[in-house]
Amino acid sequence: MTDTHSTAPAPTCSPETFFEELPLSDDVLDALWDMRFEKCTPIQAQCIPPILEGRDLIGIAQTGTGKTAAYLLPMLTLLARASHDADAVNCLIMAPTRELAQQIDQALQGFAYYTGINGVAVYGGNDGVRFEQERKSFQQGADIVVATPGRLITHLQLGNLDLSRTTHLILDEADRMLDMGFIDDIRFLLKQLPPKRQVILFSATMPDEIGAIAKEFMSNPAEVRIAVSKPAEKIDQSIYVCRNTDKMAVVGHIFSHKLPERVILFASSKACVKEITALLKKRGFNCAQMHSDLSQKERDEVMLAFRQRKTGILVATDIVSRGIDIDDIQMVINYDCPRDPEDYVHRIGRTARAGREGNAVTLVGERDFIALRKIEKLLGGHIRRNPLPEGCHEAVERPKQSPRRASSNHRDKERKTKGATRKATDVQADGNTHGTHRPRHRKPTRNKEQGESSHHP
Ligand code: AMP
Repeated sequence: MTDTHSTAPAPTCSPETFFEELPLSDDVLDALWDMRFEKCTPIQAQCIPPILEGRDLIGIAQTGTGKTAAYLLPMLTLLARASHDADAVNCLIMAPTRELAQQIDQALQGFAYYTGINGVAVYGGNDGVRFEQERKSFQQGADIVVATPGRLITHLQLGNLDLSRTTHLILDEADRMLDMGFIDDIRFLLKQLPPKRQVILFSATMPDEIGAIAKEFMSNPAEVRIAVSKPAEKIDQSIYVCRNTDKMAVVGHIFSHKLPERVILFASSKACVKEITALLKKRGFNCAQMHSDLSQKERDEVMLAFRQRKTGILVATDIVSRGIDIDDIQMVINYDCPRDPEDYVHRIGRTARAGREGNAVTLVGERDFIALRKIEKLLGGHIRRNPLPEGCHEAVERPKQSPRRASSNHRDKERKTKGATRKATDVQADGNTHGTHRPRHRKPTRNKEQGESSHHP
């Protein structure tokens, strides 16, 4: 956390907080009851009270901690209680990727089910009808808009959306938005808001640029910090140090013990994802690929098949390293070491969610040693090394660069910059939107004791 801005600690809560103990609206509690959510996660216990008090808040937490509910539940309660302009967008939630925006929207549909609060999701898809639907829903005053930055800015610039009466803004995964080059868009959005507003910011890390935004646009924010950058304890982490040319054989070895089910295999580039998918398919594995070259429709189909267990292995770029809400991923395989150790934490955080156990296996090749050291430094210890299968050879770290080689440093730098741009494009080659207006629902009768509902979300 940067110390460039002043923050006040959030009120402390008892170690076990039940949702029923919190002053959430009955409609929200009803939805939680239906979903069998009883106890708060730590981030929820600490964030819900200050948000309900109307305070600005900085939450430092990664996905898998329950952060989405930590802001949605109090936000729905605030919107349900206060009178607000029916023809204005009252709350804007910004997410860096379409996948995270979709996930937030799904959670919102569940939590808002009985509240009559409606939302519109603006996150991609490529047709003009959608765009028109979104425009109309803005004008009719969607209570909550969940959006990725690209298209939202387009709507703002075309005058389709007016944020001057938007009294609540939530920035989810703010550090990721920074990485993806959206920081100026976020500043632009913040400047559109009325002076009296509530700003809530969630981020896994707190780089200086995000600290500066907090200082400029937030007022005396409460700060809640949950186990930053540490993967869940229930993830069994291990590595194979093997030559790049042996990586596919190691993957085959891993899958030889048990037919892969619910496995995500991460690779750093789209080309690599395509190549691995082709190789796995050739070997008869049930797999699918996920990267930004796919259309939104294709992405949705791939994710649906994976959710429905029709696909055993999802081979993906970091497009799914955050914001994929599938709780029973059994194994994450890193085909290479992500260069940013935070990405490692996010990738492996796809497994062992919601208290389950999971495996994270990383293949360390000749080019991965520096990245491995950074990851182990962040974790504060060595990751267990697996013995290599027969016929595979250990990778040896390349010696330090010779002075002659150093002269080509600028070319490496150029490549790295391009890599970073590619990565940003990969995750959000966006500029497109989906818009869905949900109907208001009538509240059904239910029997709390038996946990029955006549109308399930
Ligand atoms: P998130 O960090 O918001 O992506 O949430 C991670 C997962 O935990 C999601 O599948 C949520 O549905 C689930 N979850 C969040 N809060 C709770 C809770 N209080 N009790 C049980 N599951 C939860």
